[in-house]
Parts: sequence; structure tokens; C-alpha cells
Amino acid sequence: MQIVSVIVDVPTMNTDKLFDYLVPEKWINFIRPGMRVSVPFGPRMIQGFVLEQKDHSDVEKLKYIHEPLDISPVLNEELLNLGKWLSEKVLCLKISAYQAMLPAAMKAKYEKVFHRLDGGTNPFLDELFGNKDELRWDVAKNNNSLPVLQEQIKNGTVEIKYLVKNKANKKTVRMITSLLSNDELLTALKNLSPNALKQKLVLEYFLTTTKSIPVKKVLEDTNSTTATIRSLINKGYLKEENKEEYRDPYEHRQFQKTTPFQLTMEQQKVITPIIKSIEENYHETFLLNGVTGSGKTEIYLQSIQKVINKGKEAIVLVPEIALTPQMVERFKSRFGNDVAVLHSGLSIGEKYDEWRKIQRKEAKVVVGARSAIFAPFENIGIIIIDEEHENSYKQEENPRYHARDVAIYRGELHQCPVILGSATPSLESFARSQKGIYTLLSMKKRMNNQALPSVSIVDMREELREGNRSMFSRELFEKLQDRINKNQQTVLFLNRRGHSSFVMCRDCGYVLQCPHCDISLTFHRYSNQMKCHYCGYESIVPTQCPECLSEHIRYFGTGTQKVEEELNKLLPEARVIRMDVDTTSRKGSHERLLQQFQDGKADILLGTQMIAKGLDFPNITLVGVLSADTMLHLPDFRSSEKTFQLLTQVSGRAGRHQLAGEVVIQTYTPEHYSIELAGAQDYDQFYNREMMMRKLGSYPPFYFITLITVIHEDLMKVVSITEKITKYLQAKLSNDTIILGPTTSPIPRIKNRYRYQCLLKYKREPELNKHLRYLLEHYQQQITSEGLTISIDVNPYIMM
Ligand code: ADP
Ligand code: ZN
Ligand code: ZN
Repeated sequence: MQIVSVIVDVPTMNTDKLFDYLVPEKWINFIRPGMRVSVPFGPRMIQGFVLEQKDHSDVEKLKYIHEPLDISPVLNEELLNLGKWLSEKVLCLKISAYQAMLPAAMKAKYEKVFHRLDGGTNPFLDELFGNKDELRWDVAKNNNSLPVLQEQIKNGTVEIKYLVKNKANKKTVRMITSLLSNDELLTALKNLSPNALKQKLVLEYFLTTTKSIPVKKVLEDTNSTTATIRSLINKGYLKEENKEEYRDPYEHRQFQKTTPFQLTMEQQKVITPIIKSIEENYHETFLLNGVTGSGKTEIYLQSIQKVINKGKEAIVLVPEIALTPQMVERFKSRFGNDVAVLHSGLSIGEKYDEWRKIQRKEAKVVVGARSAIFAPFENIGIIIIDEEHENSYKQEENPRYHARDVAIYRGELHQCPVILGSATPSLESFARSQKGIYTLLSMKKRMNNQALPSVSIVDMREELREGNRSMFSRELFEKLQDRINKNQQTVLFLNRRGHSSFVMCRDCGYVLQCPHCDISLTFHRYSNQMKCHYCGYESIVPTQCPECLSEHIRYFGTGTQKVEEELNKLLPEARVIRMDVDTTSRKGSHERLLQQFQDGKADILLGTQMIAKGLDFPNITLVGVLSADTMLHLPDFRSSEKTFQLLTQVSGRAGRHQLAGEVVIQTYTPEHYSIELAGAQDYDQFYNREMMMRKLGSYPPFYFITLITVIHEDLMKVVSITEKITKYLQAKLSNDTIILGPTTSPIPRIKNRYRYQCLLKYKREPELNKHLRYLLEHYQQQITSEGLTISIDVNPYIMM
């Protein structure tokens, strides 16, 4: 008797434990830990992950596994353990931890089918089912037979079955293989009837090419038909078979092979301790703090080369929006087909194939966004997180993990170095490097000693006072003109999308709001609509104020579309490429626009966040930030840090090569330290100032924080539950812990559901997760049946 313990795909606290199942005779020793299986659970079949194998269970009546869903384990032992660790650390269900580690194609898809039980005696069912035993739910629904089937189920002549479908399809191509040697081909040619001209052509074709060729190509090249091929197969000359093929998202791209640069003195100094830990197989976390353009990527590439030479593997994380073709190209150019790439721009099938390349050890390096940290490598030699300060490394849904924590966990396990790279490290990481937890490596010089661009900060209040009402200061406008005359390129950065952000009545100050969320609606020029960015609500643009009926209702704020229009008006000769969510939503458009800019088909690249990173074009000599303040006033203790980081990143796009660069930052609060110090590009001083603020506010890195948000349609319920939770925690946690709340969330309502929160700040609470887990279990009933949400975010990055 063989028994396995399974984590089932039922996302509730009550089922977040192991369930035992018997393994049917025929699959004994075939079904192993790490495989997906389909198992009966209540009335249905669901997916599960096998965690353990054993030969005894305390449960009396065990059910059998229905069927395996994999040929070999999809999660290795390390990842199975990592899932357990993760679920405890971030308080998520084990099933969601495991699902997060696998490509979407492997997530369970469920299907309902009707199964005929009457043994063919009921002619009425013949009509419904045809000559099959089973009928799919959606087919039955489409020809309106659900009510009839319901009757039959009552009679016991039909039952309903719940199946787990495997979505992980492999792509196959039909190949034709010649079974003959060249000599045999020649003999076969002689023996063909003189009329079989087409067959002759095909055999001759196989004389001149490789032995195995896709059917499609054979047909094209020889201009023959499937009938011709068929007769050659029947004669035993050729064979047809299906061959598995990867969907390669980069198949049509050529990558110029690059060779390692001779490292500069500064680079040499930085890479030495990294190489040492690779060679001597020990774990160390390095914080590589290098200014933009100081050659960090080259450090990554050469460290990875060492790792590959040792026969080990490398994981490189880059922020989603920095996964530009430029970044991918640098890795592909150095390591060719050894590189697998994982990011959200790939189709589900492409992602699945890249993942399989990793699993089959056909790739040695994975370059990917956050979830690539779970790459199923077994012999990791280095983990690199580029732009480590980026918020996109924190997942904002369950499991709410931070890739940096997972990286360090795996780095310790594999005894390999972890490199956190950034020009503007997160405060937390820099603080750890000051305490000696991470090893700080600094690079202060740009390549070729090119100076950092000179930055000037323009006070937009001053502009207004002097009568300039345009969105461009005089300084920025003059420089724009100058670059166009010189045939050099400019990047214009705007931290917002849409045409204008909101509509306000100038008489009464009323701002058009979403009726379901407490947030203002955004105006979209092209569709001429107001939209809610939280729930998707759309409405027409009012011509009259709904409050006071005034007609002085107008758009405020500036969006990329509006800037584009303004540029067309003021600088009609300038060629502008606009990059924002609207112009890059189609697959490949991001790449296409960047390519156009690189090819010099535009003078100005205008865009949002997505152009802040990774761009490295020699002809960019001017960067303009249209309004630096937009993020500064968000209700978030990291808003200064984010502003500083973003401004520094954007500035770093200018003057990376021979031509010197200039940056113009426009702002209404030039005196704010994060703007002033971003202008001076002084990270160290910014760090000191910001640490002071964090200390005063009892925020990270001085305190840990955990945010609990309670969400439901009924405001009274939300308030009372948040109060109870707060009371409970007050009783359980230490006196040094600060509990803020209950209060309304910064966005008090989204999609008609109210939001209340409670924020915990603490230095040491070893039992905290135990208490939080207790709370989740306590409210489980209301969570599953009354639509209550209790979201617990350990170390949150979004404070709303
Ligand atoms: P970062 O990642 O710190 O922004 P990069 O690695 O992109 O910096 O380096 C900036 C530029 O300098 C790139 O064009 C890169 O190819 C080049 N570079 C890096 N290291 C060297 C080197 N040792 N010698 C010459 N050029 C280099
Ligand atoms: Zn009004
Ligand atoms: Zn809304």
C-alpha cells in the first residue's frame, strides 16, 4: 500500500493542510513528491501537489488518487520546502505558494462533464450524447439542455463529473524523416515507376538535405502534395512523426556575439569578492551600489560567466518594465541559447516553454521578472537582482512575497552569492549594508569617466509669476529647440497617463468621482470618456457640474497625450514618439517604438515610468522631467524615496556615451530634499536625511510593519471587525509595538467595498504570524461565505 500526502487546490485556511490519498496499484512508485495529481475532493475532482510519500496514514477511509497530471515532478525538493517556508513567512496558503512557482499554463483548469449511466437503453439520451458517453458542460449549456439533464441526474441516468484539465500543451510539429541511406535512396529512385514524377522529386530532395524535415517545408520545397508523401510512407521509404518544439519568442532575432570587456580598476575591485564567493562556494549578499552607467551589467555578465564555467546556473531578475529588448539582448548576446527569458510579454505557451528549457537544464541563465526567482534550477551559482529598489519585486497579491527575500533564502541554501544592484538602493538594503549584513560594493564613476549629467531644477511657480503658463519652462523649451537643431535626442518624462487626470468644477471645486470607489475619475482623450483606474467604471464627460450646475467644469493636470499635442503645436518640426500604457498595450509595440527611437526616427521620446529604466542610447543628450512632484504627496512613507529614485533613474538616461548630457527637472517644490538631492545626485546625503525622517516616524528600516486591511460591502461590519482585530492584537503583542488603527484606508472604498485598516509597527514580534494566522482562521467562515476579505501584508509596499 502506498499513500501520498497532497496539498489541494482549495484556497481556504481550513484546507491548508495535507490530505492523504491511496496510490492506485498501477501508479505505485510512479507518483512522487512534486507531481501534480487530480484527486477526488467532496463531489469533485481537483488539482493537488504531492508533498510526501508514506506507507501509513492515521485517516481510516482513504480515497484513491484519480490520476497523475505530470510524467515527472514539476517541483523539486528544494521548491517544495521553499513553498512551506514562504507560506509561513508571508502568511499565504501553501497552494498559492506552489502555484506562484509554476508557469500559468500549469495552473489547474476545471471542466464539468455529464456522464451517461443508462447503458445505452434510453434513446432520448442517444440524441443528447450522440455516440459518446460524455457531454461537456458548455456544449450542453449552449444547446439549452441543462434543465433536461437536471431531470436525468435526479433519475440517476446521468451523473456530473468534475475533471481537472491539463492546460500545459506542448507544441508539436509534424516531421518527415527519410528511412533510407543515400545508396538506398538511389536504388528506390530507380525502382519508381517513370510516371511517379512527384515522388521522384521528393526522394531527390531528401538526397540533398538533412534526414528529418517539417512536412510543411517538404511540401513547399518540392511543390508536392500530401498524397505523394503518403505513398512514399506506404512504401516504407519515409516516416512521419510528431516532434516537440519550443515556442521561441526570440526566434527571429539575431544576436551579435559580444565578448567580455577589459574591466576598469573600479570594476575589478568590485568583482573580486564576488568571484571569490563563486569559486569557494559560500553565500554572501552584496549590495552593488553603482551610479547609472558605471558598468554594473558588465559585472553581472562576467560573474555569470564564471558560474557557467563551474557548470552552475544563474538567475537574473530585472524589473518588468526594464525587460526591454535592450536588456535581454545584452544577455543573449553574451550567452546565446543558454539564456531563457521570462516576462509578462510572453504568451502563456511561450512562458511554459521557456520554463521547460530551464527544468530540462537546456538553459543555464534565466533573465526574468519577479517570479523567475522560482526557476527550477538545482545547482544555482549566483542570483542577481538588478534595480533592487524597484517595487515590482514585491508581489501585490497572494503570496505577497518579496523576490529579494526568496533570493537570499535560495542563495543560502545553494551557498552562492546574491547581488543586489542599484544606483539608488532601497533604504532597507542600504541600512543593512551599513550594519554589515550585506557587503557594500560601490562604483562612483561612469564608464570612460563621462561626467554625470548636469541637472538644473526649475521652479514652476516662478515661471507662472513671470507669465509663462505653458507646461514647458523657458529653460526646457530652449534646450528642446537646441537639441532639435543639433539633431540630438531628448527624453521627456511624465509621471502619469491619460490626457488630463481629473475634471473639476471651477465654481464649486467639485471633482468628478467614481460612484463605486472613493477616487477621482481620469479623463481619456481618445475615447472621450471618464474612467476609474480601480474598477474600470466609465462615464461620459459632463458639460455641466453635477453639484452646482455651473458650466465652468474643466480638465486639470497634464497627461502624456496633452503634452504630445502641446509639442505638436509649439515645435511642429519635432518628431515625437509617445510611450505610455495606451500606446504599448499591443504585443511588441514597446519594442517597436524603442527601435524607432534608436534608429533616429524621432527627436523626442515622451513617456511615463516605463522609459525611466534601461534605455541606453548614445544620442540622448537631454532629459526633461515635466513635473517632479506628482508622487511626492502620495499617502505613503516611501514617497520621498520613490521620488528620489525615479528622478535619479530618469536623469541617468542622458549622456551615457560620448556626448555630455543635461537634465531639466520642473517642480513646484524645489526646496524638497528629495528633489534637491536628486538634482545633486547625492545618494549618501539623501540616505541620511531620509533615515532621519524614518526614525522620527517609526518606519522601516527602524521598524518592521504589517498592514491589515478589512474589506466588505457593509461598513458597520468592516469597522467592528477591524476594531476586534486591533483589540486582539493589543492584548497579544508587546508594549513596544505600535498599533495604528482602526482607521479608514487611504482609498476608503473600491468597487463598492469599504476598507478599514490597522497598521502594526514593531521591532521584534516572534509570535506575530501565529496570532495573525489565528485571526484568519477565526474569520474563515465569514471569509468563505460572506465575502469578507482580510488582507495581511507583511512589509507592505503599497500603503493604500
Ligand atoms: P550600468 O548597468 O551600471 O548602468 P552598463 O553596464 O550598462 O552600466 O555600462 C554602461 C556602458 O559602458 C555600456 O554601454 C557598457 O557596454 C559599457 N561598459 C561596461 N563595462 C565596460 C568596460 N569595462 N569597458 C568598456 N566599456 C564598458
Ligand atoms: Zn460646481
Ligand atoms: Zn471605480
